[in-house]
Amino acid sequence: MARHVLALHILGSGSKGNCALVEGPQGLVMIDDGFSRREALRRMRELGIDEDRVKALILTHEHTDHVSGVGVWSRRFAGPLFASEGTPAARRSLEGIAFETFAPGDELTVAGIRVTTFSTSHDVVNPVGFRFECRGDAVSFATDSGVVTPGARAALADARILALESNHDVAMLKTGDYPAMVKARILSEQGHLSNDQAAEAARELVTDRTEQLVAMHLSQDNNRPSIAVRTLAAALGAELDNELGSSATRASRGAGGELRIRAAGQNRPITVR
Ligand SMILES: [Zn+2]
Ligand SMILES: [Zn+2]
Repeated sequence: MARHVLALHILGSGSKGNCALVEGPQGLVMIDDGFSRREALRRMRELGIDEDRVKALILTHEHTDHVSGVGVWSRRFAGPLFASEGTPAARRSLEGIAFETFAPGDELTVAGIRVTTFSTSHDVVNPVGFRFECRGDAVSFATDSGVVTPGARAALADARILALESNHDVAMLKTGDYPAMVKARILSEQGHLSNDQAAEAARELVTDRTEQLVAMHLSQDNNRPSIAVRTLAAALGAELDNELGSSATRASRGAGGELRIRAAGQNRPITVR
């Protein structure tokens, strides 16, 4: 039984730039590119990733923090670029780039990895999340979604690695300095998942098979890694690993392994295996 076939590399996650890569035996699939080429390559080097092993790029949606690096990246990139229908036309910086488009729900196969796409709920044309599967291993990934739709729940559940948005603490957002319109947008069904929403969903999505839960797209103003990790840990019965609350662990249950909970950041790239 091949269990750890896939890995998830997160170059950065948050409103200042998003880029992650799912690694399989035949290469990597890049998810979004919100960094300059120079910065993406610097972070890839830090994680030991060779640019030439990146086989495809796939977008979640057209917000700038997810696509600002795509234009420059695409000029030196030979692999296919995937985006949902309508996404490339929705952002001027993506015009003229040759995308292969898909409808949410479509399945793609890239570098031997099966990619199942599904709709998320966000204030853009056609936002999506992904489930990556290869030889019995699975990574699921969803950010930038105001709610976890039933379709997303089905696709995200029961993965070994789950990367799920945990954007804000509702109280911090409500009492913070953001303009009322911005607060309303973030809290809306087309906004971002709160820590509480992520925790509620994680209770259902995390199974005995799940070994890694990564809180994604944390707000720098309305959240803290320790708050996101604590909220998820409390919902899942995990214990904090240290006083900082930067990670948490739940002992193995039944046939399952240990569950590790942590938060991805904006500045420090991480690899999750
Ligand atoms: Zn975003
Ligand atoms: Zn967005």
